[in-house]
Amino acid sequence: MSDSSLFTDLDVDRDGKQFGYIQAPRSTNTAGWANLFIPLIVIRRGDGPTALLFGGNHGDEYEGPVTLLNLARYIQPEQVHGRIILVPALNLPAVQANTRLSPLDGRNMNRAFPGSPSDTITGQIAHFVSSVLIPLADVVVDIHSGGRSMLFLPSVNMHRVRDPRQMSEMMRLALAWGAPYVFIYRDVAGGGLLPGYAESLGKPTLGTEMGSASQYGPATLKLTYNGLCNVLAEAGILKLPAGRYVPAEPSQIVASELRDDYIMSPASGIFEPLVELGDGVAAGQPIGCIHFIEQPSWEPLIIRAKTEGFIISRRAIPLTQQGDCVAVVARRIA
Ligand SMILES: [Zn+2]
Repeated sequence: MSDSSLFTDLDVDRDGKQFGYIQAPRSTNTAGWANLFIPLIVIRRGDGPTALLFGGNHGDEYEGPVTLLNLARYIQPEQVHGRIILVPALNLPAVQANTRLSPLDGRNMNRAFPGSPSDTITGQIAHFVSSVLIPLADVVVDIHSGGRSMLFLPSVNMHRVRDPRQMSEMMRLALAWGAPYVFIYRDVAGGGLLPGYAESLGKPTLGTEMGSASQYGPATLKLTYNGLCNVLAEAGILKLPAGRYVPAEPSQIVASELRDDYIMSPASGIFEPLVELGDGVAAGQPIGCIHFIEQPSWEPLIIRAKTEGFIISRRAIPLTQQGDCVAVVARRIA
């Protein structure tokens, strides 16, 4: 039993399709007694495995919300074996504000797990997810993209977990997606991630980095929607009448597991990239430079790769603060 003060009007054990909300208490200057209404959809048919799907963990990444809203309307209970639970806008206030962080408490939802009932609103939502929803799940998918600040080659991603059986199950589901890359990453900007928490409970868990710079077109959304359907089919939860989506190329399995694969800017200024996504780089190779607008006579500061591989991600916003991640180097491992 959860001690959360959040609740849902949906019965997660009822067959059929239900649209409802997770309600979270809040109080504002213009509404003393108010609730946040975070959309929740449950599609269930009989006993079977449960998939738990998230979008909008970061508010400026809209591939997840669009894909999950489409999926929630299109999937019919007759196609389902077990249960699909969809949360298309987990950090609802951030999705509505087009911000990565919640405008209510300035928090990053993907650093707030597992959260607690006495936390700020972001941590309270995380706590409802970790104490009520994640225990129901056999598969967890958390859809991310580059948001405003990053460009990414499209990937399905995961940490390298200790349990080899869990790792091979996650890899099987990730390859079913059909994304260009399956990407193994490490945390370089803090813990408390939703996927990390679900992984730590032994749940097969997938994250993604689908699109870039808060921009998407039909190709990115098709990859997100079709890949997610493939994963649900691979998990035995969704019957696809039209069959699986088959990508032109099989996924490459790549990894950025060294701290030095994540290149942080040593100074603040205007970032000029010298490499593009997908370019191969050698250790020591310049990948970008920082210009100093206050000192026009200064040579720009060269930023170099510390590891060899290829550029899987780079910064999308030119104006850069010291410590911002400007590029990520990955290597093919299979
Ligand atoms: Zn994200």
